[in-house]
Amino acid sequence: MKVLITGGAGFIGSHLAEQHLKRGDEVYIIDDLSTGSMENIEHIKKQPGFHYNLESVTDHRLTAELVDLCDVIYHLAAAVGVRLIVESPVRTIETNIRGTEVVLFHAAKKRKRVLITSTSEVYGKRDRVPFHEDDDLVMGPTNKGRWSYACSKAIDEFLAIAYWKEKKVPTVIARLFNTVGPRQTGRYGMVIPNFVRQALSGEDITVFGDGTQSRCFTHVFDVVAALMKLIEHPHAIGEIYNVGGDYEVSILQLAERIKELTGSTSKIVFLPYDKAYEEGFEDMQKRVPDISKIRKLIGYQPNFSLDEILMSVIEYQRQKMANRNGAPAPIAFR
Ligand code: UDP
Repeated sequence: MKVLITGGAGFIGSHLAEQHLKRGDEVYIIDDLSTGSMENIEHIKKQPGFHYNLESVTDHRLTAELVDLCDVIYHLAAAVGVRLIVESPVRTIETNIRGTEVVLFHAAKKRKRVLITSTSEVYGKRDRVPFHEDDDLVMGPTNKGRWSYACSKAIDEFLAIAYWKEKKVPTVIARLFNTVGPRQTGRYGMVIPNFVRQALSGEDITVFGDGTQSRCFTHVFDVVAALMKLIEHPHAIGEIYNVGGDYEVSILQLAERIKELTGSTSKIVFLPYDKAYEEGFEDMQKRVPDISKIRKLIGYQPNFSLDEILMSVIEYQRQKMANRNGAPAPIAFR
């Protein structure tokens, strides 16, 4: 099978590429390295069957060519990370909407199968958990930049469903909940890589707000396995699926656990949202997926516990720090 992965040099895209290569598929990626990096694909760059294109997915000519060549398309190229969204709202909105438009437009010519990755952000400020795929979405006002991410991804979802209904392009939507694992960078605000980096380097661990807000984290391997099953399943077409973990943890508990697992002497400090992001920033207090729909379809069950997820990130960052310093990895125990 020939697989196209947009955003294939990103954190999730590069793991997905690796799994398809392992299965013997031919993998094409397109990535403009805006948030992805060559480092993520260094180990597969020279593998037979792997082809990379360093361009934006909004390049019509190249995307048309790649879509035409491949049997299925995973559309992962997007602006991600709350920090990026707050700092570069124009880029977020334009990248997310234009990229999806271009992919679906070209997929429509030969009705290629497309999986669109969306996000749990689309549930917005909804406070009744768990979130079910058919729930109403509760957005904040348009003068609060954060919601532009949720709205741009919601437009992507509308588009994908419209292409299925009107033009019979087989699309499926995966709403990802806080995916974590090796290769994720904390540069765009993601909490676990940030806390782990702070803990390993002895810096203060910065909990935003009061730390009572909670999330459910999922290991990238669980997510990739789910995406590979979803894109192939005939009954997934035209549908939306939550892909996430079902273990809820508060951000303060998370900081404490990371401090424990790394044996760090870092202090846990609280930073008001206004200082962490921008004046008037609104966070989601809770975010828990209902995973019964995807479980019923493909038998999905997350395999990685929170500690296993955290250890995989800790090991990865230790290795990276060691490589950078040319020294052995720091010992984590008290
Ligand atoms: N957060 C934090 N410290 C950090 C980064 C994030 O306390 O250094 C908090 C953030 O305010 C949010 C949660 O951790 O409540 C998860 O943030 P992330 O950006 O990873 O994902 P989100 O769920 O907000 O998309």
